[in-house]
Amino acid sequence: MQDVPISRLSFDHLSPIIGTRSAARLRNVIDEARAVLDGRIVWHINSTAQGGGVAEMLQTLLAYERGAGLDVRWLVTDGDAPFFNLTKRIHHRLHGQNGDGGLLSTHEQKHFMRVTERNAEQVLAAVRSGDIVILHDPQTVGLAPALRRAGALVLWRCHIGQDEMNRAADEAWQFLRPYVEQAHACIFSRAAYVPAWLSSESAFIIPPAIDALSIKNQSMSRTTARNILTHIGLLAGNPGSGGLEFTRLGRSPGRVTRRAEITQTRPVPGPTVPLVVQVSRWDPLKDMAGVLHSFADQRHRMGDAHLALVGPDPRSVTDDPEGLRVFQDCVAQWAELAPAAQERIHLVCLPMADIEENAAMVNAIQRHAAVVVQKSLREGFGLTVTEAMYKGRPIVASKVGGIQDQIADGVHGLLVNDPTDTRACADAVARLLADKALARRLGRNARRRAIAKFLGPRQLIQLLDLLYALDGTSNKLRLTNRPKNGRRNRSATSATISGA
Ligand code: UDP
Repeated sequence: MQDVPISRLSFDHLSPIIGTRSAARLRNVIDEARAVLDGRIVWHINSTAQGGGVAEMLQTLLAYERGAGLDVRWLVTDGDAPFFNLTKRIHHRLHGQNGDGGLLSTHEQKHFMRVTERNAEQVLAAVRSGDIVILHDPQTVGLAPALRRAGALVLWRCHIGQDEMNRAADEAWQFLRPYVEQAHACIFSRAAYVPAWLSSESAFIIPPAIDALSIKNQSMSRTTARNILTHIGLLAGNPGSGGLEFTRLGRSPGRVTRRAEITQTRPVPGPTVPLVVQVSRWDPLKDMAGVLHSFADQRHRMGDAHLALVGPDPRSVTDDPEGLRVFQDCVAQWAELAPAAQERIHLVCLPMADIEENAAMVNAIQRHAAVVVQKSLREGFGLTVTEAMYKGRPIVASKVGGIQDQIADGVHGLLVNDPTDTRACADAVARLLADKALARRLGRNARRRAIAKFLGPRQLIQLLDLLYALDGTSNKLRLTNRPKNGRRNRSATSATISGA
């Protein structure tokens, strides 16, 4: 069990982006939340401190809460390889896929509980009766019954799901159901992800969000972005010694010093060569290999553009046992391509030793991108899409899961109806590379929408509003609207923070 350090961030720095009225509203909600919590601790528990969307979001969400004077803590649970293989299997099934095809039987249930009980011992030593615990994703949901017995208020936040139930998804839900039903409330990213057997009273919809000032999204000059790409080895040229700086979470200065591990013939020849980018974990559902073939097959229509498939060093994401295999698979498929295609495709593994430095690299790559692709076969929400939207990039993405809540086709980006259609994906990328005016318009709209709908303050307000449904004395949900202004949001799309 890891007790993850949380920095302190102030919302004041966000005012120029969200506007002073929204900032004032946020301060009110936090003041009210502090009163409701009345000294109780809010614990967030997940299974990794780095890699993937949940860790990404918790890093800044919790830092703002801490900065606003709320007592929040972050614990990361342990697991062995069979446990993470099992939870990855559940992850795939919740997305309607078979994953490794393994079982979800009594044997797996027993192992799940064995690991959970070991984690529970340590969690229960820290959590007090009356505290609020937010468990994230299937890896931690098994803790719900023990925490509830110990008098904590338990929320389970599920970041994955798929719109239509199928046999695979149903099997995973049956596995999780005994634990899920022990949570006082559950939070989903989309209404369609709520399983039919869950009481609608205890299901809340809160889409994720990004932080505008995080290292991944903070403003960065074009020159710095280029220098970072050159320094890590993706872009040809002499990086020089300056212009690799970023601001760390605690606002101290940071600098990119490491290089990336890149499978390529040679670096992208120059900064004016358009770069098409997909940034993702090495996960089969992100379909990095599909992007590779989509680009390779249609490269004659892509002008002189290059493609970079960018992910974390797969050896460093502890709760994702598939990463290395998926990455090696991509390398094998790249090795089979004709030399003319190989030359224009780069497989980039970013170092994770310093996650703040990793975030600066992602920021630079997304900002430098001529087109950002997210060709996921399934997607819970897709923070990489939000990040690209906020940076005003033209985007091509599959019309799946939460991506549809973020992008209206032809308005904030281009959506591909069939996520397996590599030709349609290439068509959309080629269109954006050729039509600069369209690319600029979609990018501008995307940024506006990201600021209005998908920044941290909207999410925080929804999460804190949920506290108004929590009854501190009986540790039950009090299902009334908050007394003052009834701002509690059950639906994602109603919540907006307007831009400055
Ligand atoms: N990410 C990162 N470093 C990398 C690759 C990805 O920090 O080398 C981040 C990415 O920027 C995004 C998150 O991992 O913030 C992925 O979240 P998303 O919701 O897109 O997908 P998930 O991995 O949660 O399925």
